[in-house]
Order: sequence, then structure tokens, then C-alpha cells
Amino acid sequence: MKHSVESATKVAPDVYAVPLLGAFGYVICEDRLTLIDAGLPGSGVLLERSVAGLGRSLDELTRIICTHGHPDHVGGVRELAGDRVDVRMHPADIAGLQVTLGDAVRRPSRGRLFAYLARTPAQVVPVLDGDILPVMGGLEVIHTPGHTPGSICLYAARDRLLFVGDVLTFRRGRVSYASRIFSDDLRAARASVQRLADRDVETIIFGHDPPWRNDAKGVLKELAARASRERSRDQLATSQEGAPWKT
Ligand SMILES: [Zn+2]
Repeated sequence: MKHSVESATKVAPDVYAVPLLGAFGYVICEDRLTLIDAGLPGSGVLLERSVAGLGRSLDELTRIICTHGHPDHVGGVRELAGDRVDVRMHPADIAGLQVTLGDAVRRPSRGRLFAYLARTPAQVVPVLDGDILPVMGGLEVIHTPGHTPGSICLYAARDRLLFVGDVLTFRRGRVSYASRIFSDDLRAARASVQRLADRDVETIIFGHDPPWRNDAKGVLKELAARASRERSRDQLATSQEGAPWKT
């Protein structure tokens, strides 16, 4: 079946991928609607059409969860979030969004520019590692810093889904670590994958790529093991730098 650009694709029971501007948003259709990630500013109209195609309405949207504070994940929040929409994000990325245009211009950096572009309404509610949100029978927040300080993954045990935002990517036919170019701290981002390896995951759901279902659990374990080996190597190198015989 051919889909138009704005149509939603089912990725799991009651979960639909919606191509927004710059990233996928994921709509969870329960009594009310939850959105994971909101795309760039201007994404609202795309979401509205896709949701209508599912026989639902944006009036039913009650919750937006942002996997992190990059503009292609939070830029659309402002136009979607009215008083009745609960917007959730990790505090480490909320802090980064409190950037004025003056800040971005006076002290330019990629982080500050991203933060300015991504600015959201003030009423973002923090989510913390270990929180269980009342979505999909319990959606667990896993803090996985590195891509940004406040990056989170969301794990739905009932459906064995893991929403990873940009903590993992899909490159050259395989699941890979976070983007080297767009990540604040690549080493931390890789280490964070170790926090995902013990979850029973059937489907990995990315911010920018189609879902991955081929031995997802094994793939996570392999990436975590590689990150652990790299970390040990780094620690060894650091300890040898300080060794007395190295002058
Ligand atoms: Zn990102």
C-alpha cells in the first residue's frame, strides 16, 4: 500500500510512526493520545493530518514526551502544547533550553544555538531515571546521557519496545551508536548503551530511522559489550599515562 508523505505507519499495536519535519514522532493511541518527540517547528500540521487519518484528533493529545532537547525533537512542542498537554523531558535538557536569543548571539556555540531554536513553553515537567509513565501499561524512563546531557530512552515492557531517540542510530545496514557529529559527549553516549542491555527488547524505535526487529536484544548486548571494552581500554590508557615508568 502506498502511503502519502504524512501518513502514519503502524510500528506496534496502538503505536504509529509519523514523519514530522526533521524526525519521526510516535503517536500512542489509547483513551487519550501520547506523542513521543515533536519534530521541528511547523510539524503540527503534519501530525494533525496523520492523527486524523487514524480517526483521532489532536484535541485528544494529553502528553508529549521528548527524548531530548534537540530542535528536531522538541521544536514542534510549542505549537502543539496547550494548557491541557503535559510536556515531559529530562531536567538536564530542560535547563539547556532556557537560552535567550541574546545568549545565542553573544556566546555562540552549537549547543546554545540548538537550544534557542528548540525553545519550548516554560511548563515542561521533568522526568527522571526510573520514572514509570502511565502509557502502554507502564513506560519506563531510562536516563542515557551523552548524545545530550538529558537524553532518555523509553522502555515499554508490555510490548517489548525501546524508544531510543538519537541514543542509537541506523547506519550502513546496522544499529550503531549516537551520531559522532551531533553528540555532546560521544564516550558517555556509548557508555549509556550499557544501561539498555538488560531489557527484554523486541523492537528498537529510532528518532530518524525505521524500527529494527532483528535480534534487537542481541544487538543491544553487543553494542553494550563493545562500549564496555572501549571503556576498559580508555581506563587502562589513562592509568598508564600516570605510571612512574612513563616519563
Ligand atoms: Zn539529537
